[in-house]
Amino acid sequence: MTYSLHGVAVSRGIAIGNVHILAHQEFDVRDYLVDAGRIDAEVARLRVAIQAAATHLRSMRDKIPAHAPHDIAAFIDTHLLMLADTALADEPIRLIRERRFNAAWALKTQRDAIVAVFDQMDDPYLRTRRDDVDHVVNRILRGLVSDEAFKPPDEQHLQGAILLADDLAPADALLMQHFGVVGFVTEGGGPTSHTSILARSLGIPGIVGVHHARRFARDGEVLIIDGNNGVVIGEPDQRTLNHYRRRLSERRKDSAALSKLKRAPCVTRDGESIELQANVELPSDFAAAREVGANGVGLYRTEFLYMNRIDAPTETEHFDAYRHLVETVAGVPVTIRTLDIGGDKQVEAGLTARGRGGNPALALRAVRLGLKEMHLFLPQIRAIVRASALGPVRMMIPMLSQVDEALQVIEIVRSVQSEFSAANVPFDPAMPVGGMIETPAAAAFADGFAQVLDFLSIGTNDLIQYAMAIDRTNDEVNYLYDPLNPGVLRLIAMTIKAGQRAKIPVAMCGEMAGDLSCTRLLIGMGLRSFSVHPSILLEVKRVINATAFAEVQQLAEKALKAADLERFKNLVRQLSLGVETTDPA
Ligand code: PEP
Ligand code: MG
Repeated sequence: MTYSLHGVAVSRGIAIGNVHILAHQEFDVRDYLVDAGRIDAEVARLRVAIQAAATHLRSMRDKIPAHAPHDIAAFIDTHLLMLADTALADEPIRLIRERRFNAAWALKTQRDAIVAVFDQMDDPYLRTRRDDVDHVVNRILRGLVSDEAFKPPDEQHLQGAILLADDLAPADALLMQHFGVVGFVTEGGGPTSHTSILARSLGIPGIVGVHHARRFARDGEVLIIDGNNGVVIGEPDQRTLNHYRRRLSERRKDSAALSKLKRAPCVTRDGESIELQANVELPSDFAAAREVGANGVGLYRTEFLYMNRIDAPTETEHFDAYRHLVETVAGVPVTIRTLDIGGDKQVEAGLTARGRGGNPALALRAVRLGLKEMHLFLPQIRAIVRASALGPVRMMIPMLSQVDEALQVIEIVRSVQSEFSAANVPFDPAMPVGGMIETPAAAAFADGFAQVLDFLSIGTNDLIQYAMAIDRTNDEVNYLYDPLNPGVLRLIAMTIKAGQRAKIPVAMCGEMAGDLSCTRLLIGMGLRSFSVHPSILLEVKRVINATAFAEVQQLAEKALKAADLERFKNLVRQLSLGVETTDPA
């Protein structure tokens, strides 16, 4: 009988295939003592297993195709570094020598101690790093307790299959692609785990956190993954199967049709040019932005550079990251946002302990934090100014609530530029400095910000959070997170109008910019620059190219003036459904 299971979708798309269940990764570790005369041999056995695990990972690394996302090698390197870390081997060796534990038992004891420390951490991102410890330890244990050590899976068996496992290591995700696996389901894992991040980069549909999935599925049976809705369907009946096969083939046809839009101009039916840029975060997004033909990068979130570490990134690290981006997208403008640490983007307490008190969304976050923590901020500003010599670079300040914050940052930029001039360090003196409009105070005073900044970009994720007084990470008030709320729309309209009056560009880079049901409304409101994730960019372009500006402008103007809620909703519905009707009023 058809059954469905639910989990968290980590990468979009549909997959249909025969399920291949991976054996449980927990190894049967027995806690016996080794004979006194065998202690040296047991230590050697552990060392050999660690060595073998490293050799296996290195050979995997060598197989990475040249065009694969940069993150893949980085994930494997992280695991290699863990294998080389003495913390992993020293204590087990002591346990073998002093307490005569067998190698697997000693290793598992150390693994439990490390994992216990991770489990106490508040930071959800860091907690998922415990998975990395598990993956590395399991890899060594495999060599210690199993005869099947490092035997590669049967390639033919995996072609077109859906993997079902308790959990998957990032390196396994790489193998999935190599062996032609079409999708995966795991019982554990979270959307921010390395494997999930990797699956998204690789474009493999996957669902994590599907508890007890292996109790339902049988090896070899057909499974459907609906990565758009986080649903796994087992034993599908013919109707369900036909439905998903149709959707799969529509998707394939659609992506073939969409890819034809890559080089097409982005212009409304009546000739208004619209700029369509990409939001990027990880290095793998850089190539994706270029691949879909983005007009530029409208938002580079630099928080990734600050995560998972307790020392501040150096000017050189910043510069290398920015150079990589500028070179990858070659020729189109790149908007580098200065640090937006705090709020929903927490970093390790060792990097900064600020911004955690009370409600972090209302605390020392983003530009407020940068101005207080110069050791985090200044190397970044210096690197951005240097990067401006490499190509069209723009700097963007997040979370402004008063003009004075923008002025202080501009002053730092000017002093860095005069230092560089004196030292003959190349930079672009005309590098635009813009700001994000993410607080209601900034939206209402957007004309004031427009006087001191070169461009504005509307960050709707935060603007909606602050305008509606809801924490964007809180499930209980998610229902109020509404981009089409009339109050929110008026704040957006004020910002767009302020930019038009001051003759400076206004973009939108929050999720609303990639919400297809809002595209026509935003064009009607006068927005001329959208910045969206590369995965949705071509779909936004398709809507823009099918829109007549003159028609949507009229509807949008009426909607923004409407004080009657029903009338407002009716007009917005017409815009979001794409129905070109005449307003009766
Ligand atoms: C936003 O707030 O809309 C935005 C783009 O920034 P972030 O999501 O990184 O806070
Ligand atoms: Mg924001």
